Amino acid sequence: MKRVIYATVFQLLLIACKSTSFTDNEKELIGRFPAQIMPVLQVTCTADSLFLRQTAREFNRADLQNDLFKKLQQQMLLTVRDSVHPGVGIASPQVGISRRLIAVQRFDKPNEPFEFYANAYILSYSDEKQIGAEGCLSVPNRRRDEVERAETIVVKYIHPETLQFRNDTVSGFTAVIFQHEIDHLNGILYIDKF
Ligand code: ZN
Repeated sequence: MKRVIYATVFQLLLIACKSTSFTDNEKELIGRFPAQIMPVLQVTCTADSLFLRQTAREFNRADLQNDLFKKLQQQMLLTVRDSVHPGVGIASPQVGISRRLIAVQRFDKPNEPFEFYANAYILSYSDEKQIGAEGCLSVPNRRRDEVERAETIVVKYIHPETLQFRNDTVSGFTAVIFQHEIDHLNGILYIDKF
């Protein structure tokens, strides 16, 4: 009898691992239209501001292999490259999806591509600091302020194509973008630092 229960629990766990964790709201928001620029949540709206202060949830492996995940990336890319209000990085909570996904423009790579990082975390910060002006797509009027950031960080993430865990050491302005975007995943905006 015990063996049967263990086997059933094991099968249920396998099924759970294979199904996506996208909520009905997330499915609706990502899947509603063909890939297009998404509205960016603004700190001046109370509901948006509270949403942006949540800690974003991780994706499971089934999520990362799902078409909704690919479509979310397309929509985030269109949004951050919107010619009316372009940015150098974006985090999925900014488009209403509270998940650990960021896009960062890699100024440290040839042709400066935007790249995506799923389930991203910062593992370590250098003692050496840098100070630079930052803005945010969720802060209106193109406001910019000086923010202190680590010069070099080590980031951990799942590569969206290979689905492998990776660690990267990043420095300079690109490291600033990573810190800004991963702060978003932890519910922190740069204006909260003052
Ligand atoms: Zn931002």
